[in-house]
Amino acid sequence: MLARDRFPHAVVLAGGQGSGKYTLALMLAQALNCLTPPKSDGLPDFCGTCANCTRIAQAGDFSARFNEAVEARENLREADKKETRLFVQTHPDVLIVPPDPPQMMIKVDQVRRVIETIYYRPAEGRERVYIFTDSAFMKEAANSLLKILEEPPEFATIFLLTENAGELLPTIRSRSMVFTLGALPAEEIEKYLAKQRPEWKAPQRALVARLCEGCIGRGRSFDLGGYTAARASALTILKSALVGGEHSELFKVTESFRPGADGREKTEELIRTLYSLLRDLMFVNSGATELVRNADIATELKRLGESVDFEWLTSASDRLAEVERGMRRNLLRSLSLDAFAAALEKA
Ligand SMILES: [Zn+2]
Repeated sequence: MLARDRFPHAVVLAGGQGSGKYTLALMLAQALNCLTPPKSDGLPDFCGTCANCTRIAQAGDFSARFNEAVEARENLREADKKETRLFVQTHPDVLIVPPDPPQMMIKVDQVRRVIETIYYRPAEGRERVYIFTDSAFMKEAANSLLKILEEPPEFATIFLLTENAGELLPTIRSRSMVFTLGALPAEEIEKYLAKQRPEWKAPQRALVARLCEGCIGRGRSFDLGGYTAARASALTILKSALVGGEHSELFKVTESFRPGADGREKTEELIRTLYSLLRDLMFVNSGATELVRNADIATELKRLGESVDFEWLTSASDRLAEVERGMRRNLLRSLSLDAFAAALEKA
């Protein structure tokens, strides 16, 4: 599309966290604005060294730029804080619109900034580029965006990044071209990690390549220590439910999950890990061991699998969904985890 000079004005990039949506959007912003665009295999590319390419690339570490923007706002006077919306901008023609904390939603004032600038010709590049990094829009913000999409200027491109294109209004989707970034095979991610994370041992890389579910970005920054700790807790909960007996270990685990932002993250990680173990137990029991993600504890999973059946796994995942709902209502975490383990025993 770039080669034919027919690049769409609105592009939805859908894919899991770490699948490369933001990286791809920035690369395209560079290709659209490169001052000395080279060709790769006869197709337009970007040089990566001209003034436009390098300034756009400064936005590459999104979480660092986002944190800087949050901090800059924190340092404002109270009155100004309320008025100030978050943006990441390292090039005058490329505006990155992140979800605005604490609600982590795209707000109408952010879309207004887009409306204010999008109809002016680009200052230093050829194309104005807007990258919305999340699809959680406040209602009014989504409606304002829709108005832009109805009549986008010739020289602007809007990228909408989302984990699930279904979260966007159908009217927004229908005015955009939707691309889904697929999952990469574990072998390919393993090869990539061998270069990027040489400090990991080969079995660790193999494990991460399976756990990151085809998303290379998630694999690259995978917190193996955090995951292993969460998995140890998850295994204690499952064992306590299945093998029964001694409960002191279980309470030691569940008591360590405290309320507050820190505890919330920890509990979310635990829930994700519990789901992944339940899924693996399902694979083990149906003889599809090649699909098991936690391959390094295959023997342990096989042993646990002997005391569960399909019905138990279904009921366990239903109970886990209840814990998740409880968390959203802010029930005491350790309490709902204890209830979870107890409910599994009865089941
Ligand atoms: Zn360039």
